[in-house]
Amino acid sequence: MTKRLNLTALIAGLLLAVGAAAAPALSDPVPINPNLKLGKLDNGLTYYIEKNAKPAQRVELRLVINAGSVLEDDDQRGMAHLLEHMAFNGSTHFKKHELIAYLQSIGVRFGADLNASTSPDATIYMLPIPTDKPGNLEQGMTVLEDWAHGLTLADKDIDDERQIVLQEKRQRSGYGMRNLEAMLPKLANGSRYKDRLPIGTEDSILHASPDAVRRFYADWYRPDLMAVIVVGDIDPADAEKLVKRHFAGLKMPAKPRPRPLYTPAPLSTPDALVFLDKEAPANTVQLYYSTFGRKPPETVGDLREALVRRLFGQLMSMRFSRMALVGEPPFIGGSAGEIAIPFGVNQYGFVAGAAVGKAGVNTAIDALVQENTRARQYGFSSYNLDIAKSNLLAAYEYAAKSRATRDSAAVAAPYIRHFLAGGVIAGADTEHAVARELVPSITLDEVNAYARTIIPATAPKLVLYSAHTNSVAADQAPLTGSELLARAEAAAKLPVTKIEDKAPPASLMSYKPEPGSIVAQSEDKALGVTKLTLSNGVKVMLKPTDFSKDRVRMLAVRPGGQYTFPEAEKATVRFASAVQNAMGVGSYSPSDLQRILAGKNVAFVTSLSPYADQLNGSSRSGDIESMLQLNYLAITNPRRDENLFRSFVTRGAETVRNRSAMPEMRFAEARLQTVYGNHPQLDLPPKPSDYESLNLDRSLNLVRSRLSSVKGMTFLFVGDFDIDALKPLLATYVATLPVGDVTLNYRDPGIRQVPGVVRSEVKAGLEQKSTVTFDFGGDVAYSNTDSWSLGLLSDVLNLRITDELREKQKLIYSGSASARYEKIPRGQYGVGITLPTSPQDVDKVEAALWSEIEQLQTQGPTAEDLNKVKQARLQAYRRLLRENGYWLNNLRMAALEDRDPHEILAIEQRINAVTAADIKAAAQRFLDRKNYVEMVLKPEE
Ligand SMILES: [Zn+2]
Repeated sequence: MTKRLNLTALIAGLLLAVGAAAAPALSDPVPINPNLKLGKLDNGLTYYIEKNAKPAQRVELRLVINAGSVLEDDDQRGMAHLLEHMAFNGSTHFKKHELIAYLQSIGVRFGADLNASTSPDATIYMLPIPTDKPGNLEQGMTVLEDWAHGLTLADKDIDDERQIVLQEKRQRSGYGMRNLEAMLPKLANGSRYKDRLPIGTEDSILHASPDAVRRFYADWYRPDLMAVIVVGDIDPADAEKLVKRHFAGLKMPAKPRPRPLYTPAPLSTPDALVFLDKEAPANTVQLYYSTFGRKPPETVGDLREALVRRLFGQLMSMRFSRMALVGEPPFIGGSAGEIAIPFGVNQYGFVAGAAVGKAGVNTAIDALVQENTRARQYGFSSYNLDIAKSNLLAAYEYAAKSRATRDSAAVAAPYIRHFLAGGVIAGADTEHAVARELVPSITLDEVNAYARTIIPATAPKLVLYSAHTNSVAADQAPLTGSELLARAEAAAKLPVTKIEDKAPPASLMSYKPEPGSIVAQSEDKALGVTKLTLSNGVKVMLKPTDFSKDRVRMLAVRPGGQYTFPEAEKATVRFASAVQNAMGVGSYSPSDLQRILAGKNVAFVTSLSPYADQLNGSSRSGDIESMLQLNYLAITNPRRDENLFRSFVTRGAETVRNRSAMPEMRFAEARLQTVYGNHPQLDLPPKPSDYESLNLDRSLNLVRSRLSSVKGMTFLFVGDFDIDALKPLLATYVATLPVGDVTLNYRDPGIRQVPGVVRSEVKAGLEQKSTVTFDFGGDVAYSNTDSWSLGLLSDVLNLRITDELREKQKLIYSGSASARYEKIPRGQYGVGITLPTSPQDVDKVEAALWSEIEQLQTQGPTAEDLNKVKQARLQAYRRLLRENGYWLNNLRMAALEDRDPHEILAIEQRINAVTAADIKAAAQRFLDRKNYVEMVLKPEE
C-alpha cells in the first residue's frame, strides 16, 4: 500500500528535479541534487560535476575505480595497491618523476593534497587542482586520463616501486595490523576478504610478476567501473566538455570479466576469539549480533526508514554515554548500533563494543548485552525521542544552511560513495525538506519496533576480545573464546529493568544577569575587526565572516596558564580544567546539558594551556546565547560532582594504563626527555597514577584560582554573526562577568633543548622496524623574516626527503620535517625530522639526510624547489585566509604575544620575499651540526 504524505516543502524540490505533478508518496524515488550534473558516456564511464565556490580557484578531481584488492587473482596479491603507486611512476604524458614535479610546481603537495588509496573494493585517486593559471584544469584532466588508461607500467619501474611498498608495509606493521590479521578470518567469515588485505604479503610484493600488475590494470581499469568527479570553482558545461574529450576514447575490453561482489556469510554458529598481545595499548571487546546486506535507499520510504535508524542510533548512544558517567563505570566507553562493515558492499552489522576498564571484560560484556536487551524489551522514552528528533532536524537544517560554504572535497565525498554503493544524492536542501516532513511523523512505537528487529534475541553471536597480555594475571589461565561466549549467553538471560527518563529541564539559566554596557567601540578597517571595551574592562574583538555559514567560534585569552603554578602542583594543574569540564555547569551534569541543549549545536570548555588561560566555544549562529550562558555559568557557578569525578579518574587511568605498550609511545617519550634534558615540567604522556593521585577539591580550587575572574581577558569572536545582534548578548553575559584580582603574566619554566650533540638509541617493539629522528633547536631573537625562512626551509627539506630518500634511494615510505619558531615564553626555534625505515637502513638514512642538509647549506635550494614550496605555501595561505580558525589564531597571537595582527595581510609578500640565499643561511644557522639530538628506535632483541 502506498501511503500519501503531505510533503509541501518536498514537492518544490521534487518538481524542480523531475517535473512530476503528483504529490510524492513513500514509493516515489528521491530526485538527484538539481545542482549536480550526473552523466554516463557511451563507453559506460560515469561522471559527477558540481560547481562549488569554496575554496575559490580550486577544483577537486577524483578518479574512482570500482575495483580493489578483493578482485586480485591468487598471483596478484597486493598488486591493486602496487598499481596505485605506479600511477605516479610514468604514463603517456608524464615520464617517471615528471608528474609529481609538475603537480608540485603548481602548488599541489605530494601526500598532503594529492593522494590515492586502495581498499578491498575500490581504488580512489584524489587530485586538487588550483585554477589560478589557465590550462591547469586541462592538465589535471590529462593526469586523470593517464591514470585511467595511460600508465606505462614498465618492468623496471615496477621493480623499483616494490622496495617503497615494502617500506610502507613495514611502517604499517605493529599491534594494529597483527590484531586485524588475527580477527580477519572471523570478520570475513569464509569470504575471499580473509586473504585480500590491500597491502599484500612480503613475498607477493617482492615477487609478483609485472604481467600480474598489467593484467589487473587491463581487467579492471575500464570505463564501466570508473567514475570521474569534478567539484569546484568551475563552469560545469566546460567541465563536461573536458570529461568527454578526455574519457570518451576509453575502450571496454572485448570480453570484460564480470565484477563479482563478495559477501561474508551471516553467522551460523556462535564464535569467539581472544587475541592477547604485549603491545596492545587498550583492551577492547566487540559483540557482533548479526550481519546483513541491505539495498541502498532509493525512495522517500527508504529515507524514512533511514531516519528511524538514525533516531535509534542517537537514543542508543545517549544510553551508553550516560552509563560511562557513573562512579564505577562498567567500561571506559561503550556503544551499540548498526555499522557498515568494511568487507562487502552495502553490508551492515549490529555490533556492541566497549573499551574495557578496571571492571574487566566480563562486566563489560554483561553491561553491553543488558543494555541491548533493555532496548529490545522496553524501548526508549518519548522525552528522549523528542530530544533525538530535534537534534536530527537541527543537523539537517545546519547541513542545508552551511551548504554554500562547504569545501569541495566534502561535497565530492558522497559522490564517491554513490558510485560505489548507490543510494540517494538529493542535496542538502531536499534532504532537509524531506526530514522536516518525515521526522515529526515518526512515532516512539516505530523506533521501539525497529529496536526489536535489529537487536536479535537469540541469533548466534561473534565475540572478539583484544587485550594486553598483562590483563591475565601470572597465575591465571588466559580467558578462552568459549568462556567469553558463555558469558555473553548468560548475560542475555539476566533480568533488566525499564529506565524511567525524566523530562529534561526547561532552560539553561532561569534568570538573566542585569546587563552591563559597552563603553568603547572602534573599527580596524584593514582587518575588518570591531573592537569593544565592556563596562567590566573586558576587551572584545569581533570579526564577522562569510567563510563558514552558520558557524561561530569564540576564544577568550589572557597570559597565565599551567606554568604559573609551582612545579609541585604539576599533576593537579595538568588535568584541572578537564576535571572542571567533566562536572557540567550550574546545577546541570553533562547529560543534563545534552538534554537541555537538544536541537542546538554548542560546545564550550575552559582550558589552561601552557602559557594562557582560555575559554573556548563554538556554536551555530542562532545558538550564540547558549554558548555565552555556558561560559557565564562556568565562570560564576561551576559544578562539583563526586560521582563524575570518580568516573573521570577511573576512565582516565584505565585509558592510559597500557598506552606505553606501544613502542612508538615509548620512543616519543624518550625523545622528548632526551631533547629537553629530563626537565621536570615536561608534559610527558600521563600514567595511571597521575589520575589516581588527583583530588577533586584541589583540582577545582586550582581552576577557580584563575578562572573565577575574566580580568585582562580578550574575547575573540570570528564567524557568521551580526555585530548589532551580538552586542546586547555581550552586555548581558560578558560585561557582567567578575573581574577579581588575578596575575596577568605567564611564567617561563626554563624548558630548553640540551646544547651540543646527543645521540641515543631506544630498543622497543616486536616488528623489524626503525625510526630515526633529528631535533635541532635553541634560542633566537624573534624576527618575522627568519620565521618565514625557517618555515620554507622545512618545506624544502620535506621535498628533498620525498625526492631523494623515498623516490631515489627507496629508504623510506614517508618521512617528514617540521619547524617551530616561537615568541612565548622566549624566542626559540626547533626543527624536528622523523624518518621511519628498516633497521638495516638506519645508517643509510642518516647519511642521506646529512647529504641533503649539506647540499642546502653549501648550495641552497634549487630554483625549482624554491618555486614549488612557495607555490604550495601561497595556495595554502589563500585558502587559510578564508578560514575562521586561521583568523582566530592570528587574533589570539596578537592578544597574547604582542604581535601585530595586520601581519596576516602581509603573508603573501613575506612568502614571495624569501630567497634561495635566505634558505641557505637558515640551513646553516638552524640545522647546526654541532647542536642536535638524534634518536634511533630499534626493535627489541
Ligand atoms: Zn601505498
